Amino acid sequence: MKRKDNNMTASEPLSIYLHIPFCSKRCGYCDFTTYAGKESIIPAYVDSLCDEIKIVTDLCNEPLIAKTIFFGGGTPSLLTLGQYEKLFKTMENCFSVREDAEISLEANPGSVNSEYLSGLKKLGLNRLSLGAQSTNNEELSFLGRIHSREDIFKSVNAARDAGFKNLNLDLIFGLPEQKFGNWKKSLSEVTSLNIEHISLYALTIEKGTPFGALANKGLMNIPDPDLAAEMYEWSSEELDRVGFQQYEISNWAKSDFYCKHNLQYWHNLPYLGFGVGAHGFARDMRISNALRINDYINRIKRRSTQNNGNMAEEFPVSPATVSIKPVNKNTSMQETLMLGMRLTKEGVSAQKFNDRYGDKLVDIFGKDIAELLELKLIEWVGDSLRITDRGRLLGNQVFMRFVD
Ligand code: SF4
Repeated sequence: MKRKDNNMTASEPLSIYLHIPFCSKRCGYCDFTTYAGKESIIPAYVDSLCDEIKIVTDLCNEPLIAKTIFFGGGTPSLLTLGQYEKLFKTMENCFSVREDAEISLEANPGSVNSEYLSGLKKLGLNRLSLGAQSTNNEELSFLGRIHSREDIFKSVNAARDAGFKNLNLDLIFGLPEQKFGNWKKSLSEVTSLNIEHISLYALTIEKGTPFGALANKGLMNIPDPDLAAEMYEWSSEELDRVGFQQYEISNWAKSDFYCKHNLQYWHNLPYLGFGVGAHGFARDMRISNALRINDYINRIKRRSTQNNGNMAEEFPVSPATVSIKPVNKNTSMQETLMLGMRLTKEGVSAQKFNDRYGDKLVDIFGKDIAELLELKLIEWVGDSLRITDRGRLLGNQVFMRFVD
């Protein structure tokens, strides 16, 4: 990707998320906005994405600087290199992409080879996130994944051959009746691949998913929360032992490889989201796009052909936007604290909070802070308020405490 230098006054650098809502097959636990068997719509969807980016960025009267770009899904690796060329060209025309921008893509192991990855690398991609989930074939098949353990190792090798120096692998723990030994093996095998970043998620059974339906009918056991907590604690110690730093509730990295894109969310800083179901936060607004793909494509098409419509014409609102929530100072302070508490190492700096809002953290949240300190769920480390080891296990209780 060509990086433009721009001397005009520009807005604060932001992050860009592009949603690619296609998968070869739907996994049993998945509640993301994604479609299986709709590959024929991909070309029209890519055109809509490019149009949406152009429409939204045209509404902004100052240069937009991109510090990170993230292709998430779904399975972004289902798009062809030609389709990515189109998307990168559009991004290049519409944003000043910083020289050191982190540009990530999520991929399914088994859906990538070194030729494809080299092509992406040439376009400017510099971080790859593989949805490994487990190295146990039985567990992968239970989850409904299309890949095998061998595919994980092959994809990592292919990524290294293509020159990727920043690799993340996702793993899921706390499967119903999962053997602790299997989990330990998955984590050890993945860390022995010398990757730079690892994300661990506890399996949750969501309504509206095949797993949700099975659990409802009593045909599937639900995960054991105590076992999941034990796995999480063990993993945290193990990852620390093999040289990873935990910097967020679910994320560990070697130093210098923290995910800059996700840090933008956790620091409650602006980002634009493009695509079906995508969310954005900029100019004191949280916005979200239409959830159905045909609705999304039609909204963008109508706007592109009519040149105007009844759509709001204010950056960062898109013709696909279906919800706009204004964020006032009070909400922003709450969100900054809630999101910042996820950052296990950094927490929320009292000084930075004061610089950003002109108010003291303890003046606004004194009562909640005192109660959580008393319960030993949070602690002061120097100038920063952060979650304790005990608090990590009750994360949501802590995070939600700060929002209305
Ligand atoms: S590959 Fe990911 S996005 Fe696609 S169905 Fe499975 S969990 Fe969902």
